[in-house]
Amino acid sequence: MFAPKQYQILHNTDQEADIVIINTCGFIGDAKEESIDTILAYAQQRKANQIKKLVVMGCLSQRYKKYLEEEIHEVDAFFGVDQLKEVAAMILQEELINIPEQYKRNLSTPAHYAYLKISEGCDRKCSFCAIPLIRGKHVSVPEDVLIKEARELAASGVKELILIAQDLTYYGIDLTGRRMIVSLIEDLAEIDGIEWIRLQYAYPAGFPEELIDLIATHPKVCNYLDMPLQHINSDILKSMKRGLDGGHTRELVSKIRQGIPDLAFRTTFIVGYPGETKEMFEELCDFVREMRFERMGVFAYSAEEDTSAFDLGDEVPDEIKQERVEMLMAIQQDIALEHNQQKIGSIQKVLIDCKEGEYYIGRTQYDSPEVDNEVIVLGKQSLEIGEFYDLRITAAESFDLYAERVG
Ligand code: SF4
Repeated sequence: MFAPKQYQILHNTDQEADIVIINTCGFIGDAKEESIDTILAYAQQRKANQIKKLVVMGCLSQRYKKYLEEEIHEVDAFFGVDQLKEVAAMILQEELINIPEQYKRNLSTPAHYAYLKISEGCDRKCSFCAIPLIRGKHVSVPEDVLIKEARELAASGVKELILIAQDLTYYGIDLTGRRMIVSLIEDLAEIDGIEWIRLQYAYPAGFPEELIDLIATHPKVCNYLDMPLQHINSDILKSMKRGLDGGHTRELVSKIRQGIPDLAFRTTFIVGYPGETKEMFEELCDFVREMRFERMGVFAYSAEEDTSAFDLGDEVPDEIKQERVEMLMAIQQDIALEHNQQKIGSIQKVLIDCKEGEYYIGRTQYDSPEVDNEVIVLGKQSLEIGEFYDLRITAAESFDLYAERVG
């Protein structure tokens, strides 16, 4: 975020602020609900003059701007995606032309890791997904721009880059006609100070197999891959327009597992998609038991206007969807616990993220911030936030590890 001198950017919602900017998400029902609840909470504060300006931006307001303007009058302005300059101009009461094109990033993450968005938008046509409608077609950020940004991040203390995009594997196709993700990662890894590169969101169909070798062998690329598979039943996958059937999905997962034996495979599934029978859901449960993913998330299907699946209806009742979410997560909870228990006694390189109370909290290369395991460091020693330590894992729960310093 662009931060002019007269403003201080606060990321902690407990702190008092004059201006509140809410960046919304609007691609499924739960995300929309959370965004609207947040807007309504701050609308109360704006009405009571506890804040001077309330600005809403991002996907939800891109998609439903007119409706939100009509319904929530306390918001001073709504902006869509890609309107950072417009937001800055409104707050500074400046002409748009006076707002700089390039600005130094102000991180909302701890100083030692940062997300690097390598492309925006998506050319895929997944039937359930509203993202291409909101974000538009896939556009890669040119490599020289990304390298410059990554160098600046590294110079300011960032050690871990988390590469994000709607589909990382598509990077470069719009620039050169070919996939350039591998060479981009290799070039980012050359930057002094960057020690971990983590990949989030790789689409399964057309997955570039060179990535398997790169993850397996490159010392700076984390043994971690986030690949949303969405389902395993071939009829559902076909209806979802995912480009791979169940058999090919199994083959791909097996190939990745064989190529990177020490991999933390994160995936997500959708349950309650139109037409998902009890048998199809059981097929998914069996797949999860068989593949034993290290990390997994589940979403209940959300029917989104203007997507191609919207016309299929939404016949799986909400309570069944919720039941399926819980059943799948219960299966995963046991698997995650077993994976974590296997780490007990091992020495792991841990990046310390923060201190909570008297404990330091960190992560191994197998875990992404916010969504995966934390390593809770026991003992009274003093550690540096943002530094790596070799720690011995002493205990494990399904979604947390406990560790102590070696020696
Ligand atoms: S690849 Fe991801 S962002 Fe693109 S349409 Fe499919 S689910 Fe949506």
